[in-house]
Amino acid sequence: MASPELTVIKQHLIDPEICIRCNTCEATCPVGAITHDDRNYVVDAGKCKQCMACISPCPTGSIDNWRTLPHSMAYSLQAQLGWDELPTELSSEELAAEGVDANALAELSTEAEAAPARATTGEEDFNAAQYGATLPPWSAAHAYTNLYGPKAATKSITATVSGNVRVTEVGKDYDTHHVVLSFGAMPFPVLEGQSIGILPPGVDANGRAHHARQYSVASPRNGERPGYNNLSLTIKRVLEDHQGQPVRGVASNYMCNLKVGDKVQVIGPFGASFLMPNHPKSHIVMICTGTGSAPMRAMTEWRRRLRASGKFESGKLMLFFGARTKAELPYFGPLQSLPKDFIDINFAFSRTPGQPKTYVQDAMRERAADVAKMLADPNSYFYVCGLKSMEEGVVLALRDIAVQAGLHWDDIGAALKRDGRLHLETY
Ligand SMILES: Cc1cc2nc3c(=O)[nH]c(=O)nc-3n(C[C@H](O)[C@H](O)[C@H](O)COP(=O)(O)OP(=O)(O)OC[C@H]3O[C@@H](n4cnc5c(N)ncnc54)[C@H](O)[C@@H]3O)c2cc1C
Ligand code: SF4
Ligand code: SF4
Repeated sequence: MASPELTVIKQHLIDPEICIRCNTCEATCPVGAITHDDRNYVVDAGKCKQCMACISPCPTGSIDNWRTLPHSMAYSLQAQLGWDELPTELSSEELAAEGVDANALAELSTEAEAAPARATTGEEDFNAAQYGATLPPWSAAHAYTNLYGPKAATKSITATVSGNVRVTEVGKDYDTHHVVLSFGAMPFPVLEGQSIGILPPGVDANGRAHHARQYSVASPRNGERPGYNNLSLTIKRVLEDHQGQPVRGVASNYMCNLKVGDKVQVIGPFGASFLMPNHPKSHIVMICTGTGSAPMRAMTEWRRRLRASGKFESGKLMLFFGARTKAELPYFGPLQSLPKDFIDINFAFSRTPGQPKTYVQDAMRERAADVAKMLADPNSYFYVCGLKSMEEGVVLALRDIAVQAGLHWDDIGAALKRDGRLHLETY
């Protein structure tokens, strides 16, 4: 029999029963160990360095599962993709069949539990996710999480639709809705930057209940309408997949079709790091595409309400907002009417006929001098939300802007992460 030290691994696994397929772990992992298909999120044992970077950002805790088992019995990606639930621990008979002594394995398991998690080296190729914070700004308010859902006593809460309006131009082939949900007498406290899970009715192609889809809250902490215990969401109707093939997204179509008075099953709230600073002098730089504008709307509106109260000395707000065309930009009209001394708005359109393609990172580079000042100021916080493909370009732009301004990127990048100053949420 080979030595147990050589044959045993502590395998990192995701619980498919409570994972809400939010992509946070995949976006966070610095070595690309997490992947997914339409059914499950899975961890590649050959790539996972057990750095623990994905553990605290996971909104449900489904990522924090570990099995100590012989290397020969490690679960392949293929096997994990087929799971409906985590497999049980191996029995001593199963271990013995592999020639492993269960007692020796138990000892190794204890050692493995006690071993400190390896830290990320930061020496990997450029990886935007490695600069993303997992801690909130120091002055953020306390976020309540998982009040309803897999980890809570109450599995979901029923919300009533109290509004549903289209917020992109009517008559085009894209369709984004502003949906307002009311929770009546039930507590559902949220902060700007948090998200909720929607449980669409019905079952998937395998006959299982649809998994929850996550949506960012688009309203401030005191509600879409203060005092009404409600919140809003910005939902894009998915009619084609990321490759441009026709598809009918389950939850987004369900949500966009809701009528006032309809009931919706909700879980959450989720998210404890993508939160805005409460410190009045803090500056906020918001970089988003499409429905990534939802948390930015929430933060902007909270600052607007504070300013309207006359008692708040606000730091700067800077927005970089990208879409294919003006007509596709949610909330374009209301944004235009915000005072210039309240928010510095920069649009980037990638498909305006007759115009060069401009992406958010191009708009940021055009404002390099002002962005560099923000990077150098420990009171400024950066939020990136929207399409997954934007993440790398945006963080590279931040790096280049810092370097060109003579700032030391290694120090700035480390501070952005350490001090909860750069938050990435892409999907
Ligand atoms: C943290 C977080 C916050 C989110 N916030 C928002 C939000 O504020 N507003 C919002 O509209 N969405 C948001 N999403 C995306 C949302 O959770 C769903 O993934 C999206 O609405 C598609 O779900 P569906 O059930 O309609 O499509 P599905 O039935 O799950 O998917 C159908 C097909 O479309 C593809 N697809 C999935 N999402 C998209 C997409 N966004 N664009 C194009 N193709 C897609 C899938 O890969 C699949 O092939 C967020 C996701 C995360 C992780
Ligand atoms: S523990 Fe680290 S390496 Fe492993 S999946 Fe999580 S983030 Fe990736
Ligand atoms: S719920 Fe956790 S494990 Fe599932 S995709 Fe989100 S972060 Fe990953």
